[in-house]
Amino acid sequence: MSLWKKALEKTRGLFTGAIKKIGLLRRKVDAETLEDLETALIRADVAPRLAAEVVGDLGKACRGTDASPSRVLVDLLAKSLGPQRPFAWEKPASTRCILMVGINGSGKTTTCAKLAWLAKQKGRKAILGAGDTFRAAGTEQLRLWADRLGVEVVSGRQGSDAAAVAYDALDAAIAREADYVIIDTAGRMHTKAHLMEELRKLTRALKKRLPDAPHEVWIVLDASIGQNAINQARVFHEAVPLTGIVMSKLDGSSKAGFIFSIQRELNVPILFMGLGEQAPDLSPFDPAEFCEALVGVEEDDAPEGAKS
Ligand code: GDP
Repeated sequence: MSLWKKALEKTRGLFTGAIKKIGLLRRKVDAETLEDLETALIRADVAPRLAAEVVGDLGKACRGTDASPSRVLVDLLAKSLGPQRPFAWEKPASTRCILMVGINGSGKTTTCAKLAWLAKQKGRKAILGAGDTFRAAGTEQLRLWADRLGVEVVSGRQGSDAAAVAYDALDAAIAREADYVIIDTAGRMHTKAHLMEELRKLTRALKKRLPDAPHEVWIVLDASIGQNAINQARVFHEAVPLTGIVMSKLDGSSKAGFIFSIQRELNVPILFMGLGEQAPDLSPFDPAEFCEALVGVEEDDAPEGAKS
């Protein structure tokens, strides 16, 4: 089983029954069965309006035809995700700064390490900045990852000024001609105003060193919390305009259906997905692969006439 299929097992489990039933009925698919699928999609945290739209189109496409319902569903869902902007880790002319934001526990520090590893795999030189100076273990955790991955990390003491650490990390990355500097931040959010103030201070510090930094601001969202992640992202988006989304913990989430709404609502692309706790468990977001793994297109799902 592919990593994607395994990761989406829980969400898929919510509607495999409904999609199988439609598959059996095929040409004679009835309203009740379609309603069952709509309910199952909503349970998987697909927004109700999208679930109704997709199921309506699925009914039209399948009734009286030999179309494979799961294939049609994959295509409809993939279409709803809209255009993608994959991040290719190109070799930049000068250091690019990626600022990572998100609430505590979302998987930010782990994702910073995974991204550095991915950059390294692509032949790029990446440096990590341990800007989560608030959490006692934040800096230490990133240092451990960096040692393990053979990546340099710039850090300060616990409680030190995160903006100063971010500045130093960018400065070191420029001095060492790194391609990318990936800066971790603290994710405490006692109040919205406080969060905004911290993040703005941090970006101001980066701009002092490099006026167009940060070049990317990516939010890490825990996929297991479902639709609530959208509200979380909105708060950050107001503080620092986001340029990308990384979904973490897709493995183990039974609410992966909310992913279809997030891109539409925020107009920010999903770039990567975390499918486990190890460094290689971060995959570029591929809508077709995601939708196929979510719906579970089986080989025997081809129309009768197409089977050999
Ligand atoms: P932070 O507080 O946002 O920096 O979060 P951490 O990076 O410390 O991650 C919190 C927990 O989530 C840790 O136990 C990580 O191992 C775990 N984690 C992070 N990403 C993933 C993922 O994609 N899948 C799973 N299963 N666990 C993850």
